[in-house]
Amino acid sequence: MNLILLGPPGAGKGTQAVHIAEAFGLLHLSSGDILRRERKARTELGQKAQVYMDRGDLVPDDLILAMMVEHFGQAKEKNGFLLDGFPRTLAQATGLKSRLESAGTRLDHVVSVEVEDAEIIARLTGRLYCPECGRTYHELFSPPRNAGVCDVNGEKLLRRKDDMPEVVRQRLETYHRETKPLIAYYGEQGLLRTVDGIGEIGEVSERIKKACRA
Ligand code: ADP
Ligand code: ADP
Repeated sequence: MNLILLGPPGAGKGTQAVHIAEAFGLLHLSSGDILRRERKARTELGQKAQVYMDRGDLVPDDLILAMMVEHFGQAKEKNGFLLDGFPRTLAQATGLKSRLESAGTRLDHVVSVEVEDAEIIARLTGRLYCPECGRTYHELFSPPRNAGVCDVNGEKLLRRKDDMPEVVRQRLETYHRETKPLIAYYGEQGLLRTVDGIGEIGEVSERIKKACRA
């Protein structure tokens, strides 16, 4: 099964992706996590991406497509892939479609996780993440077991630079302009499943699983 989790920044895509990938045995590919790893390793791609990411703008489509395609091969050892944060533009979505067609595979479900802007701002301004494993927490809504450190590996949790309120506003604008049109695009293809992203993390996971089994 090949899935996409679609939704605004802060909708809970990364949080849910961990549970859904485990439940269905999928390879979880987060474009944001891959980019942050490239930055940390100071690769050419990481350095090019940095300027866009810090401003809350999208990294150019050609760079992102090439980066994602490189990782698809690993899905062969799993039951498929779960994409989180990609595609984010129509050009990325059509690029993905032709890549999958030439590889003789296709998407099964595109799950749109719906959360309104006011909730997103509360979620992003309290978000913490582990720089080692990418696991996401929230200081109030989903705190780690021990304050300030990752449950998985004990690393010190950080705040993302792009979660500052000014950058969050820019990212939301970018989402509405560039990414929201994908909802209609996948709707027309009969792939769209819409899920309410408000509620307990476990409840939202159940809704996503149900939508993918239907
Ligand atoms: P995305 O990957 O879509 O940007 P994240 O998974 O990073 O979103 O979640 C954004 C923030 O909201 C994180 O701090 C996360 O802990 C928190 N969060 C995720 N799901 C929920 C939920 N159902 N209720 C409250 N907070 C949530
Ligand atoms: P979010 O919490 O907004 O879902 P991500 O971790 O997915 O954040 O992405 C962080 C940043 O990385 C984005 O603001 C953007 O600059 C860049 N990025 C991630 N995925 C993509 C993509 N598919 N296309 C272009 N830029 C991307």
